[in-house]
Amino acid sequence: MSNNQDLERIARILVVEDDDDQRTYLMHVLRRLGNLEPIGVGDPESALELLANEHWDLLITDLILPGRNGLNLADEAQEHHGGLPVIVVTAHPSFETAVEAVRAGVSDFLVKPLDADRLLAAVDRALSGFHRVTSRVLAIGAHPDDVELGCGGALALHRIHGDEITILTMSQGAETPDLEHRLKQAALSAQRLGATLIMHTLRETMIAESPTVDELIAAAISEIRPDTVYVHTPQDVVTDHRAVNASTRRVARAVPRLLCYQSPSSTVDFHPVEFIGIDNGLDSKLGALGAFLEAAPDREYLSPEMVRATARYWGRFASAKYAEPFEVVRDRLDRRTDRLDLPVGRPTRAGRG
Ligand SMILES: [Zn+2]
Repeated sequence: MSNNQDLERIARILVVEDDDDQRTYLMHVLRRLGNLEPIGVGDPESALELLANEHWDLLITDLILPGRNGLNLADEAQEHHGGLPVIVVTAHPSFETAVEAVRAGVSDFLVKPLDADRLLAAVDRALSGFHRVTSRVLAIGAHPDDVELGCGGALALHRIHGDEITILTMSQGAETPDLEHRLKQAALSAQRLGATLIMHTLRETMIAESPTVDELIAAAISEIRPDTVYVHTPQDVVTDHRAVNASTRRVARAVPRLLCYQSPSSTVDFHPVEFIGIDNGLDSKLGALGAFLEAAPDREYLSPEMVRATARYWGRFASAKYAEPFEVVRDRLDRRTDRLDLPVGRPTRAGRG
């Protein structure tokens, strides 16, 4: 178990397995670690009751249960505990696609027969948001420059903190002759934030909610296993932005921290409740946006003056001069922010700080 010295609280794990021998074995292995509190039940109805009424940090469930499918239980679990990590154990792998599993909020699949090392490694991965001091961050945008503009400062702070950052961009932008040049700008921008760039080729203005968009985002989540995801706010006049928000919310149900950023096209209904001070990240943000501005100097919304003024305005809600605003879909990691000692970028909630 890595970093378990960082764990101050005991992680509560609900184990659902109808086979008595299997359940006893699972509980035995989990109890070997002093910082886990596993509770075992044999029938899914008891599991549902426990999920509805108690706090949990992880669900481990068999795929085939009497009267209920494990994926269905995972789905129900997300209703009560959005972002709850779920491990599904099965003797019959590969029937479920990665997308279906991710959609149901499953963090990991384990194939029987189980050995203790693989089980504990999976538990470690599933509780990574809980245990880890550093994070894996995925920032999703419809077009080049959306992510940098919406949360470039927050990403720069993540980088300072040692977090792994991936930018997922769904479209390469408008089809113009300078496409190749634009791809280079996007790569340079990501590089200036210390981020890995994944760029898809959906057509700008044509990104509708669809299984394709779901699958592309689910694939990234399944590969990266982020504990924090940033995405567009749904309060936005650009349909591409809204579609990416909707898809992300559908497939990122197992991600413990999901925040929505502002765009120049956001509406007055954008209602941020979390403000990340970016005094230490503003220069990196301007540098990243500069990569795009060089190619399109007429874009006023990318100008350093506009970016700085916007961040300055939101700074009034944070204990910082400059800030980025976020809507919060969920934040199960919030309890650990006090232990993180984030440089300046400590999130400050409206009305509290
Ligand atoms: Zn955009």
